Amino acid sequence: TNTRVETELQEITNIDSLTSLLNRRAFLKKDDQEISRAKRYKQTFSLLMIDIDHFKNINDTFGHPVGDKYLALFAEKVSKSIRDSDYLARVGGEEFSILLPQVSLQEAGIVAENTRKLISNTHLVHKSTDIAVTISIGVTEFKQNDDISTIITRADRAMYEAKETGRNKVVLSK
Ligand code: GH3
Ligand code: MG
Ligand code: MG
Repeated sequence: TNTRVETELQEITNIDSLTSLLNRRAFLKKDDQEISRAKRYKQTFSLLMIDIDHFKNINDTFGHPVGDKYLALFAEKVSKSIRDSDYLARVGGEEFSILLPQVSLQEAGIVAENTRKLISNTHLVHKSTDIAVTISIGVTEFKQNDDISTIITRADRAMYEAKETGRNKVVLSK
């Protein structure tokens, strides 16, 4: 069994302190485990890559601490909207990812669209101003010959396509 200090260290190395979500390192580990499981049991899963649109504007307009507050609110809202069996992580500054075990591309597209709508309706009130952002989401489903880099690359490319074709949208990649 672990000592209290060991347990705390594990939390520090796996959890993002601003949002209390899994960090990138912990998320990659989950992805790896899910790939092994999906291959072994011939199951599927889907991956969402989420990037906040024009987030730099929030910092430039309201200041970095308000940007931080928004990121924490974002994490809270999206956490509450997904199932207990799903994994939400902060994988970069204003980048998040969701792993959906046993979920097809089509179903993942619905989760992504619901998340997009949820965020466009989520406002942070700051000095009587309503701050709202939009998100761009790339979605992909596991293929039997995937490894962690191929599946993440596909989700990333779909997310960049969402950016390039107007932002505030969901792009699915087969
Ligand atoms: P795009 O729609 O192309 O994604 O535009 P963007 O402004 O979101 O993208 P860009 O990559 O140019 O900038 C990301 C911004 O996110 C800039 C950076 O200051 C902000 N950011 C990243 N991490 C944090 C953080 O921890 N806190 C705050 N407040 N801002 C952060
Ligand atoms: Mg980004
Ligand atoms: Mg961004």
